[in-house]
Amino acid sequence: MGILRFEALKEAANREPVHFEEKNKKSNLFGANVFNEHSMKQYLTSDAFKGVRDAIRYGTKIDRKLADYIALGMKEWAMSKGVTHYTHWFQPLTGVTAEKHDAFFETDMEGGSVEKFSGGMLVQQEPDASSFPNGGIRNTFEARGYTAWDPTSPAFIYGTTLCIPTVFVSYTGEALDFKTPLLRALTSIDQAASEVCRYFDKNVKKVTATLGWEQEYFLIDSALANSRPDIAITGRTLLGHTSAKGQQLDDHYFGSIPSRALMYMRDLEEECMLLGIPVKTRHNEVAPNQFELAPIFEETNLAVDHNSLLMDVMHKVGERHNFKVLFHEKPFKGVNGSGKHNNWSLATDTGVNLLAPGKTPKSNLQFLTFFINAIKAVSTYEALLRSSIAGAGNDHRLGANEAPPAVISIFIGEQLTKVLDELETVSSGKLSPEEKTDLKLNVVGKIPDVLLDNTDRNRTSSFAFTGNKFEFRAVGSSANCANSMTILNTMVAKQLRDFKVEVDALISKDMKKDDAIFNVLREYIKQSRNILFEGDGYSDEWEAEAATRGLSNFKTTPRALKARIDQKSLDLFEEMNVMNNVEVIARYEIELEEYTKRIQIEGRVLGDIARNHVIPTAIRYQNTLIENVKGLKEIFGEEFAEIGKEQIVLIREISAHIEGINSKVEEMTQARKQVNKLEDQQEMAELYCDLVKPYFDIIRKHCDKLELLVDDEIWTMTKYRELLFTK
Ligand code: ADP
Ligand code: MG
Repeated sequence: MGILRFEALKEAANREPVHFEEKNKKSNLFGANVFNEHSMKQYLTSDAFKGVRDAIRYGTKIDRKLADYIALGMKEWAMSKGVTHYTHWFQPLTGVTAEKHDAFFETDMEGGSVEKFSGGMLVQQEPDASSFPNGGIRNTFEARGYTAWDPTSPAFIYGTTLCIPTVFVSYTGEALDFKTPLLRALTSIDQAASEVCRYFDKNVKKVTATLGWEQEYFLIDSALANSRPDIAITGRTLLGHTSAKGQQLDDHYFGSIPSRALMYMRDLEEECMLLGIPVKTRHNEVAPNQFELAPIFEETNLAVDHNSLLMDVMHKVGERHNFKVLFHEKPFKGVNGSGKHNNWSLATDTGVNLLAPGKTPKSNLQFLTFFINAIKAVSTYEALLRSSIAGAGNDHRLGANEAPPAVISIFIGEQLTKVLDELETVSSGKLSPEEKTDLKLNVVGKIPDVLLDNTDRNRTSSFAFTGNKFEFRAVGSSANCANSMTILNTMVAKQLRDFKVEVDALISKDMKKDDAIFNVLREYIKQSRNILFEGDGYSDEWEAEAATRGLSNFKTTPRALKARIDQKSLDLFEEMNVMNNVEVIARYEIELEEYTKRIQIEGRVLGDIARNHVIPTAIRYQNTLIENVKGLKEIFGEEFAEIGKEQIVLIREISAHIEGINSKVEEMTQARKQVNKLEDQQEMAELYCDLVKPYFDIIRKHCDKLELLVDDEIWTMTKYRELLFTK
């Protein structure tokens, strides 16, 4: 057995759960390390407090003087909790959060030190941004970027550092991060949705997009994970024979959570409580060592920050418990991968969930308005929405019968399908009084009752209505939610804006408001039929039908990403003030490049492992067999032909696999070299996908066969059963 594997297994087997002390009751912990309203009231003057609150509620600006006061209070609060440093915390397009720590202390002229944290330091900083991806923005425009405070997401303490959530933009104003376009998208949906809301309630001033994510992940013992170069470098296994025990195992094996994992979760939940992330652990793992975490939903910007923060915290808590946390969408072949469901809705400042059916026909007409507009938006921009979840990892999941297919469709359930069917039959133009009564009481009025029993969920749908929200189920577990939420909210904002224009046009022609709304909605239902699908999304029939409906079906990232820069998408982002063309194209390039790099790295690592681990081990075992054959020949002479038959077969088989690995790794390397010469990013990504990636499966097959043939004692790579079933 390889020394690394042996040591790792020994280490893992001897692990005890890391106990931690539950300090206080959960309720006392919640938000204790967040500069929230409670702590602001304690540490800020009433003017400063009002300033921050108005900035959060109404987006008002905070002037420099006020910022100085806020910084002072924030610093006092942080220092009272033992904080020594502060950092601007932001989400560059690398997919991990970034921070640059500065001490609160600065030396004075006399060689002593003073505590310093001014409004200027709170509001703006200039990180050394040259190493963050920018997709050519900085070549075209300005070389430097800066981070700027986002007061709508509260500052928090992690360790001994005060973290200030910020946006990251270039000096010419182009967004270099995930947060900036998201904030713009949230502003645009607020405006568009508020205007439509006022058809129903004049008091609505603000509409907030809400997000409740569900995060899936794997926990693997860190010694075992580190003994595998593929997991350590790519976050997934590139080879490994599926374990005899898989997820088909009887439930009770997973019924109780291993105590080490439980300790990790408790510790993690406590960290989340301190940081104000309202999570509840769930234990409904499908695969061995797979778990899920979900919070109570929040305003989208905050929810996105909390998810990014959580992913960091999960790694850090994992270190304490000797776990490596895997967020990869498909870490193990033959085992269910991980996703991140994004539950999405819209809420008014008057306390109404716009996607929850109401109690009266009036509130239900409002519900139907938002419900149908959301459907229409997805129907119009389905390819763009698909592009929002593209990534090398997610390519393994989408369409693999464990996650929704690469086709975007909407499931709404039997009852709402009936409601839409009836609405569609409304005669056009002015409604007769009977029709109106009929519609309002018999169609619209009935919604609350029927939805109470909305249990017919469809797990195979990518975008499912679940009673009072839509659940976007195709998001990858490693993704930043901002991408999909920016795109979804922008699409729906545009749709609501168009809806308003159409309804107003009918009203100006003397049509009654309700009639106008019904008329426009009826047309929308007709136009959106292609996106509604209630059947089995995993079936081949659906793929065929989706094609006849004209729905896109991009199975790989390079193809899916193209929709991001077609004219329709560029126009959308520009019109809604979410991203200008330069920003959209830059992001598209960054994502393409990231895809290419990932496949490139995976190819290299696989080649290395196959040649440096698998082949030498196979040869060693083969040599043992050869010695054995020689011995048999010596002893049995003539009789050997019969007795040594199987050994000879084995030796030949091993030789064939070694040859297979060697030649395919060589071909793959040549393919990489050829593709690397290309200049065009799109072409390069496509060829990495079509020319390089197919070798992975072929090489893997040879390696996995050898794993079955070679003596377990000398096999160097930690096996699936050890990775997945070590508690
Ligand atoms: P499941 O999908 O597993 O059945 P739930 O229906 O309880 O679970 O909710 C899943 C997620 O949806 C939770 O994270 C929850 O906070 C979130 N959620 C519930 N209501 C809303 C809403 N109005 N807007 C956004 N997310 C919501
Ligand atoms: Mg769910």
